[in-house]
Amino acid sequence: MRYLILFALLYLLYYFFKKTFFPSKRQEKTLRRYHGKSADKELVQDPQCHTYIPKETALTAHIGGKVHYFCSRECLEKFKKGS
Ligand SMILES: [Zn+2]
Repeated sequence: MRYLILFALLYLLYYFFKKTFFPSKRQEKTLRRYHGKSADKELVQDPQCHTYIPKETALTAHIGGKVHYFCSRECLEKFKKGS
């Protein structure tokens, strides 16, 4: 029983030591990694055909002061004509 308490105390000490000397560094990294991942796979909606396309492959157009994303030039032209 005594060993159990000692072990628990040591574990707590270790835990706090770890927390104070290595603060959220790991958390920051994972957060950044998460954000990077989500940014890579960010989906945007084509306002013309309403399909979702990855931002990096989408066609961008500034129409009426807003940025619109299109899956194809055809959609872009259609949207331009429509609005
Ligand atoms: Zn489209």
